[in-house]
Amino acid sequence: MSSRGGDTPARDAHGSWSPESARRAHADRTAARALEALHRQADAAWSGYRCPGTAECCQLRERGREPWLWGVEWDALQRAVPQLPPPRDDGGCPFLDAAGRRCTVYAARPVGCRTYFCHRATGPAREPAGEMDRLQRRLEAIARAVRPDDDGPRPITRWLEDST
Ligand code: SF4
Repeated sequence: MSSRGGDTPARDAHGSWSPESARRAHADRTAARALEALHRQADAAWSGYRCPGTAECCQLRERGREPWLWGVEWDALQRAVPQLPPPRDDGGCPFLDAAGRRCTVYAARPVGCRTYFCHRATGPAREPAGEMDRLQRRLEAIARAVRPDDDGPRPITRWLEDST
């Protein structure tokens, strides 16, 4: 599993400092800051939309779809929780709170969660598709800057399975 983004110590697997571990730690910190800036851009682009906040969109099994994350987004989620959550019996996103109503990683939630609105949402008639394309390209650039060999986005539940 990858290191945990912005809190990566500049040490290698044996606890020793090395130029490579220092380079990696710097790259992780840079990527974390760039992702936070991208999150602010996404929030601004979708600021005109409102939703009732029922967290129905986080019921992944029921919806039959889930957010796909680049590695750098997975790093951000890992930093946001003290411990990775187990799967939920109801098929909801494991990052929901116990009641299944609130996202426990809201500030660090992936771009796919920030920009998804169901039919209940209200706002401008047309989604900002052009801005979405720009954000996705920027996100890929951030992800590949820190992991050039990144295979691409994966479903959030796959990241969890591979990490526990
Ligand atoms: S990360 Fe948060 S917003 Fe995204 S699906 Fe999971 S609980 Fe919902």
